[in-house]
Formats: sequence, structure tokens, C-alpha cells
Amino acid sequence: MALRGFGTTIFAEMSALAIDTGSVNLGQGFPDTDGPTAMVERAVEGLRNGENQYPPGRGVPELRHAIASHRLDHYGLRYDADNEILVTVGATEGISATVLGLCDPGDEVVVFEPYYDSYAATIALAGATRVPVSLRPDSTGRFGFDVEELRASVTSRTRLVLLNSPHNPTGTVLTRAELEAVAEVCIAHDLIVVTDEVYEHLTYDGCEHIPIATLPGMRERCVAISSAGKSFSVTGWKIGWVCAPAPLLQAVNTVKQFLTYTHSPAMQHAVAYALSNEMAWVADLRSSLQERRDQLAAGLESVGLRVTRPQGTYFIQADVRPLGTADGARFCRELPHQAGVVGIPTSVFCDSPDVGGPFVRFAFCKRPEVIDEAVQRLARFAATVAPSS
Ligand code: PMP
Ligand code: GLN
Repeated sequence: MALRGFGTTIFAEMSALAIDTGSVNLGQGFPDTDGPTAMVERAVEGLRNGENQYPPGRGVPELRHAIASHRLDHYGLRYDADNEILVTVGATEGISATVLGLCDPGDEVVVFEPYYDSYAATIALAGATRVPVSLRPDSTGRFGFDVEELRASVTSRTRLVLLNSPHNPTGTVLTRAELEAVAEVCIAHDLIVVTDEVYEHLTYDGCEHIPIATLPGMRERCVAISSAGKSFSVTGWKIGWVCAPAPLLQAVNTVKQFLTYTHSPAMQHAVAYALSNEMAWVADLRSSLQERRDQLAAGLESVGLRVTRPQGTYFIQADVRPLGTADGARFCRELPHQAGVVGIPTSVFCDSPDVGGPFVRFAFCKRPEVIDEAVQRLARFAATVAPSS
């Protein structure tokens, strides 16, 4: 069994623990408010008006065209809606279909650790091997990688580099210089880069997401994956997409058609509507998330945790050592019982024992009053374990 040992995902485990213990759930990254009303109405209208049968396997044309316009308007990247865009069941299916479609058993896939949990599972399903390159905090607390470590990770068996920026769980948004370093390695070794851009619009303090496909020589070797879940606060809708040159997309689609074949046309039309009409809503979401990031960061600091304000995503990394432990995994398993708050241990996304250990990921995509409640609970708990420093 390819997935022996994978067990239950950390998100399912910690969300169940949150319910069992009545904890505030700052673990699993989902918003606790809805997306744009008109988008939801568009889905309801579709469900009431016959958008209930299998749509085309590659996705409804309206959505593929809306994705093409979005990629062109935001990044200047041109993709053909018929041959270079595939709608998937969330980014998760896009990632799985890509890795399964492009890897042979025995191939190696370079991933940046901590890595999103589905990467490890999907690489194992493909019979490939993950080769981690570590992201470590610098003196400011921002997580970044060492270019020499990246270069050294490539072997004659390397097939893909799996990149994620804005990055879950560290919140890092890769700079142009960092992306250029990745591009240089990919071009030198003729590698394909699979880029997970689900947080493309959730960046803060004026920091902008740069798709690696915009760098010279990269579009033709890039499979870019995104999702409506994060941009429009509909993580349960599971509408994602893959943009890639036709031969690569064809390989991805060959797998996708046997995983799920296709997915709800009403939701697809609603997301097409949103991509064309609701980008102002997304801009508001982005500034509201920045405020909530600052609220949670200040709250975590006030209880003695060391945090760095992330440049993107839903997540803050907190170093829990000031609360008397360097074991983030144990801390997270005890915290719901002791404090009534759930976070996710960063170490579960890592192979190397020295990456992620004392860090805990807290999600700030929650209402301000929920963040406040979590901070108050943490403050009561912190007062019992250590003087804040
Ligand atoms: N990639 C990353 C980095 C994520 O954080 C998530 C979770 N939203 C996904 C992929 C999966 O996205 P989706 O829910 O669209 O499958
Ligand atoms: N992407 C979400 C997170 O990182 C979780 C999605 C899931 O539960 N699989 O929190």
C-alpha cells in the first residue's frame, strides 16, 4: 500500500480535537465567514436551473476563459483556455494529478520543507521520492532557503521541483531573487516546476506574489496550480485549476479524468463569475486579513511567544520556547486540553528533525472576536506556565 503510515491528516486530527475539547480552532486553515454574496447566489441559481449534470471534463468553458483572463490581467501570462487550462477538484487534485501524471516510480521530487501535507502523500502515491530542501528562519524570523542546498538536492533522478509561494505553513512569499535561483536550477537540469499558488492574492504590506512562470525560460516548464478556496473564502467548494503548456497539461488531464473526471458545474460558473467580477472583494479580504494577522501577532507576542509577521497566507509561525518547551508537536497536542486553543505543529510538515521543532502554526483567517478569545485563553494558560519574556 503506497500510503501505509500516512494515517489521518493533521488537519482532521486537530479539528476533531478542537471539537472534542471545545477549543478555539486556529489549526485548520479555513475562514469562518463566507465569500462574496453574489457569487454564492450565482451557485444557487445554477443549482436551481439545471447546472447539475457532468460538465466537460476540463471544466466549463466560462471558467476556463475566466482563468485565462485572470492570469493575463494579473501577471501578463497567456494561456489557451481550450488546451492549457484544466479545472480540478481543488488545488489538491491538481497537485495529485500533476505529480502522478509527470512522475515515474523512482523519480525524485524536490520539495521545500516544511511542506504542505498532501505533497508527501501524492509523491508516495506516484512511487516517487521526496527530497526536502529546508526553509529556515533568518535573523528577522522570515523563512528562506539556502541556494547551495537547493543545488545539492538535484540528482540525475530529479523530475520535478514542487514550489509553493505564498508558502504554507511559513507565510513566506518568495522574492524575485529567490525565484530566479529556483529557475536557474530548473533550467540547468531541465526540470519541471510545479508551483502551488493558492494564496496568490493573500499577500500583505504591499508584498506581491510573482508567478515563477513569468521568469525567462520558465513558462514552458511550469505547471501552475491555484484554487478559488482561498481567494474567495470557499474552501469547501473545492474548485481549483492547473495552467500549463499543452503537452504537460495533457499528461495531467490523463490522470485527472480517472480521479474524478469532473466537478459541480454550478460552482464552476459561480467561480467564473467571481474571477471576472469580485476582485475588489478579494482586495478587501486581503486588507482585512492583514489586520487580523496583526491582531493575532500582537496577541501571541503579548503572551510571550516569538512571532514574525508573515508576508502572505492565513498563517503565523510562533516559536513556543518562551513558554518552556522546544517540542511544538507535544505543545499542540496538550494545548487544547490545557488552554482550549488548537494550533498545528510545524514539525509534522518536515522530514528533517531540526526543521520546524519549536514552531506552531496559528491561523488568523478567523473573525476578530474569535482571535481575541484565543488570545485570552492563551494568556491565562501562559500565566500558569512561564513568566512572559
Ligand atoms: N496547497 C496549499 C499550500 C494549501 O494550503 C491548500 C489548502 N487550501 C491546498 C493546496 C489545497 O487547496 P484546495 O482546498 O483547493 O484543494
Ligand atoms: N489547507 C488547509 C490548511 O493548511 C487544510 C486543508 C485540509 O484540511 N486538507 O490548513
